[in-house]
Amino acid sequence: MGLSGLAKEQIQLQTQVNKILQTLPFSLSNLQSRESKHREVWFRLAKKTDFASRFSDACLNSLTLGFWDANKHKPFIPTRGFSMALLKLVEKSYPPTLCPEFLTILIESFSLNVEGYANPLHHFSGFEHWCSPNPEDRIFGALGSYLDSDLSGKNSFVFPDHESLPQAILKTNTLIESPAPTRVLLLLPTATTAEHKFLVIAHISGCPIYSERELRSPDLSLVLALNKESMIYDPIDWALLSTRLKGWSELLRIPALTDSLFRERIPVNWDPRASCLNLFTRQMKQDAIGCFNFHRPLSSPVDRQQLRPCFPSSTTTTLTSINKHKFSFSVLGILPNQLRKLLRLVMGDCEPILDHLSKTFFWGGYNIWKARKRLAKQQWERLQNMQQKRKPKRKGDKNESACKNPFHYLLKASDLSRQRLTRCPCSKAETKPKFVETDLRAFMRKVGPDALDRKHTAPVSSLGGQEIDGLAQTRKADLIRVSHFHPP
Ligand SMILES: [Zn+2]
Repeated sequence: MGLSGLAKEQIQLQTQVNKILQTLPFSLSNLQSRESKHREVWFRLAKKTDFASRFSDACLNSLTLGFWDANKHKPFIPTRGFSMALLKLVEKSYPPTLCPEFLTILIESFSLNVEGYANPLHHFSGFEHWCSPNPEDRIFGALGSYLDSDLSGKNSFVFPDHESLPQAILKTNTLIESPAPTRVLLLLPTATTAEHKFLVIAHISGCPIYSERELRSPDLSLVLALNKESMIYDPIDWALLSTRLKGWSELLRIPALTDSLFRERIPVNWDPRASCLNLFTRQMKQDAIGCFNFHRPLSSPVDRQQLRPCFPSSTTTTLTSINKHKFSFSVLGILPNQLRKLLRLVMGDCEPILDHLSKTFFWGGYNIWKARKRLAKQQWERLQNMQQKRKPKRKGDKNESACKNPFHYLLKASDLSRQRLTRCPCSKAETKPKFVETDLRAFMRKVGPDALDRKHTAPVSSLGGQEIDGLAQTRKADLIRVSHFHPP
């Protein structure tokens, strides 16, 4: 999760372009970003309501952020909309929240990015997205319900309520059928193990899983459902994970079978997919202060309403269309036409600066492309290496891709779990090459006729005083023998 994918190259390009744009006219006007303007108003209005005391400032702030994320694409957001939505939350009661320390261990170890069962007040900030069983919570940024959302290609954490347990297991089964790397970590009652075939990671009954430390966990198990692609795209460091889990609570028990299933495979040595919560991507998503944002595709576009107080109507229209320019054109060096028209009116000859801007865009884009190519090549090479390590398939094993074992792509070094063999060769431990008995004579020093001919051997070693003692003594004996040898 520490990786940032291509974000580093992108932010480099944005910084360089920003420096040039700051030298242009118009960009000096300090505009308040649309996000901060709206969120400030919502916060102020919410504070004036009767029920505001039930929410802390931090909670209100996080709610305005969720509300902004869910509504930012709308050209017009009603000012009272936030307070109205907030009123509906007052009447609801929510289950106790999970301990942040426990969730952090799970997020980092399993590269999780979606919280499957959450609510607007208590979704954990370590997840990129959250789902809620209540359809009304979409207004605060929920993806929808876990049961209805398409979460293939994502890594979810699911703690279903008792009523939706069978549907949640069914949905998980469907999700991991996807060819995209998908995993779901579930917190299920231990008694339900008969209803699924997922991997039981740990039994956590009695562990302090809730934020309130006094509350103890009921009879729950941490269960992992994943497809074989997920195991390879987001590797699990089992040694680190089991140590962290055991360190978190002494009451946690890891089944011996799970432990041996992980330990008998050779883990891959690369990082999981980058999380969107990395520093660079967060920086790119923030709204910048300024009237140009066509170089920042992740931030929300500067709109007409923001520009209107600062500029005449015609300039506002031109600036709005400049900001709609596609980033993919810009990185090819194609700048918005309206920018040229606008600058020509104010600056006269604007070609040198436009040329500089176009080249900066192009080379920045080239760097992003190069980094992308490098990452793709790296990934293909890794996968190819893994396939080469595996023994060639037998004639009957043509349908290799049908294997559903999550450990399919990992080499089995030894058979610790003692599981029954399947049709797929991945269930078989890779045996070491048989020891071939070597001829004893191969260990002996080769003695040729020249080596016995002491008469012609150079008596003094070229190594001088640096030779080892044993060798020096032999040579001395040789010298004496040579001096006493008188041929007839
Ligand atoms: Zn297999």
